[in-house]
Amino acid sequence: MNYREILTDIYETIKNEENKGQVTSFIPELSGVNPEHFGVFFKTVNNDEFGFGSFNDKFSIQSIAKVASLSLAYKILGKRMWKRIGVEPSGTAFNSLVQLEADKGIPRNPFINAGAIVVCDILISQLDNPQQDFLSFMRYISDNPSIKFSPKIAKSEKSTGFRNIALCNFIKSFGNIKNDSEEVLDFYFNLCSIEMSCREISNCFLFLANQGRKVSDNKQIINKSRTKRINAIMQTCGLYDESGEFTFKVGLPGKSGIGGGILAIHPNKHTIVVWSPKLNSKGNSYRGMKFLELFTTKTSSIF
Ligand code: GLU
Repeated sequence: MNYREILTDIYETIKNEENKGQVTSFIPELSGVNPEHFGVFFKTVNNDEFGFGSFNDKFSIQSIAKVASLSLAYKILGKRMWKRIGVEPSGTAFNSLVQLEADKGIPRNPFINAGAIVVCDILISQLDNPQQDFLSFMRYISDNPSIKFSPKIAKSEKSTGFRNIALCNFIKSFGNIKNDSEEVLDFYFNLCSIEMSCREISNCFLFLANQGRKVSDNKQIINKSRTKRINAIMQTCGLYDESGEFTFKVGLPGKSGIGGGILAIHPNKHTIVVWSPKLNSKGNSYRGMKFLELFTTKTSSIF
């Protein structure tokens, strides 16, 4: 399969089409991002790689970071995780409060904000220096010591993060947040603030396409069975309330962020990351969705 040719063709097609949607306005610091950025990076478990457009430019990865926090918490806690968080798609907005009341403070899955906040709480309980240890984990899995939080973006999100503050306190009222809410939220906002390029994200999460092993040194990051389950949660819950549609159109485990990035994993083959900041009405990158749909259609290589 000539991936370079297929990717080039799709990139050019989409670049020449209308770029619909809106850049996020949730986080003031992100609202000024140039909407015409468009980057793609593709990397196989055999180290073949191709990049297009703004693939080396860093952007705010937002919820894509939740794949890393879930991986670390799951690595540490194993199946005890699932006493605190479910594995079902939520069918509601990523920052919704409504289900939590009925579900008694157990978030539906680790990728909606409520679930990711509980993951931060778990990491705070388990790690000596939670934020630093989390960054070390991300740097290790990426072979990239430059990964860091963006205090500017974290502060900006905190200034308007009333819903997340409400979510955290609401969950705490059910006893499913064990640490101080302020500490948990600081970690959560920092986690979401990380800036990385398509290339860096693609390298970081390549272990999920490689049965849990880091490609550069073959070290097992998480075991095969847990890797399978993380991919499964990405498949069913990774694209907010458009996860079913993403599976229908693209068919791969994926995770999006409101910075306009989408990470997709093809187990045993490759990772592909698309970044284009304009979002559709469900909060997913308009061009990212289109790109990935065309990619798996043209390569016919889903299952
Ligand atoms: N930091 C964002 C929030 O909590 C994450 C949104 C996202 O990318 O899903 O609202």
